[in-house]
Amino acid sequence: MSEPAIAAISTPHAPGGIGIIRISGENALEIADRIFEPVSGGDLSKSKGYRAYFGSVNAGGKKLDDAVCLVYKAPHSYTGEDVAEINCHGGLYVTQQVLRAALDAGARPAEAGEFTKRAFLNGKIDLAQSESVMALISASGQKAANAALNTLDGKLSEKIEKCTEKITGVCASLGAWVDYPDDIIEEITPEEMEEAFESAKKDLEDIVSRYDSGKALTQGVDTVIIGRPNVGKSAVMNMLTGYDRSIVTDIAGTTRDVVEEKITVGDIVLNVADTAGIRQTDDKVENIGVERAVKRLERAELIISVFDSSEPLTDEDREIMRLCKGKKSLALLNKSDLESVLEEKDIAEYFETCVTVSAKTHSGEKELENALRSMLCSREFDSESACLTGERQRSCCLKAIEHLDLALNALRSGMTYDAVNVCADCAVDALLELTGKRASAAVVDEVFSRFCVGK
Ligand code: GDP
Repeated sequence: MSEPAIAAISTPHAPGGIGIIRISGENALEIADRIFEPVSGGDLSKSKGYRAYFGSVNAGGKKLDDAVCLVYKAPHSYTGEDVAEINCHGGLYVTQQVLRAALDAGARPAEAGEFTKRAFLNGKIDLAQSESVMALISASGQKAANAALNTLDGKLSEKIEKCTEKITGVCASLGAWVDYPDDIIEEITPEEMEEAFESAKKDLEDIVSRYDSGKALTQGVDTVIIGRPNVGKSAVMNMLTGYDRSIVTDIAGTTRDVVEEKITVGDIVLNVADTAGIRQTDDKVENIGVERAVKRLERAELIISVFDSSEPLTDEDREIMRLCKGKKSLALLNKSDLESVLEEKDIAEYFETCVTVSAKTHSGEKELENALRSMLCSREFDSESACLTGERQRSCCLKAIEHLDLALNALRSGMTYDAVNVCADCAVDALLELTGKRASAAVVDEVFSRFCVGK
């Protein structure tokens, strides 16, 4: 069932060569007709689709821009609905005027992720694939992009489907027993049930472990950079972000109340928390006090602790060392271009790894990348296999594994088959939530709320 049309600017809101305004819905082509006039004449709504029309966008009797309009017909479009994509010049003003014209002509503004949500609701893609769209957009390296693309192609969904079938195969027989408990179930033996559950569990564990080992390449690792004032934290940040500003994004963290910056070291992605406290700003230089650091260290997946190797350790340095002990932490002995008075052996016992660098000359950068790789990538990440694309999917897998364990225990301890069946059913539920086949509206809304407008 097609919905009334929505419209949004689908390209970045910045000056550029081309800007795309996408209109999707039952009346999308009629709306496009009201604002777009092809030079070839005729109506877009009568188009067979899959054609590009050159013409002009007009509103209130005034020409807004020359443009090309692409026409797609339901159900063979991204959303599964009729879609018009107006490609105009990519100026901020022009794209906004064209969007406004589309809204005035009857479309309503698309919510975040609404185009992809419609694709999901129209059965074009499942929930796991929808999430991979966002993962692909935000991929900051080749492996992350590959992994997301494979999920979008359905590799993960296929694998999850296979696991689900292994479990539902058992459930079908168990269901027969629950209905007719006095009959002997002939189709499946307890050994075969156990084998099916074990096999599904192993597949899921493999998927989760692959996700965990590849997280540093795909999702990024929550990282905190600490150190007393003047050891060179800002300089280290600048060294890590390099000059490639395009890969640096500031995300105002609404939920965690910190500013987060995604930086890449080689193909490893670090989500560095509270960079506002590290970066020198024009006003007051805010350095991270130990107290504030403690809170952040608790939730960090990785701590990078910076020391000034040209100076002896201070009490503050020692306190930071103590805080890092036993945690996933890396010590950076900075300022190696100066004469050193501090050596790795002085601090090594507090950290998993120590690396000597100079943020000034960039020496030690490769060593840092290698150290991060061996700390964070427990095994070679295979982005060609079925990959999870986020914590929601991971937790669905873990829930399924947990219930398979319960089902196996019930089976082995000789509990009744309906107890086994209940546990196996819960495992299936978790997997159906992953692919969205049985996800609540709240879960679906939550997934798409993380999207950007226009996608
Ligand atoms: P923060 O307070 O920890 O953020 O330290 P900054 O990054 O602001 O650096 C403090 C001072 O140390 C600045 O004057 C930097 O130029 C200097 N600095 C930082 N890294 C290096 C380095 O690797 N070598 C040298 N010689 N100076 C450095």
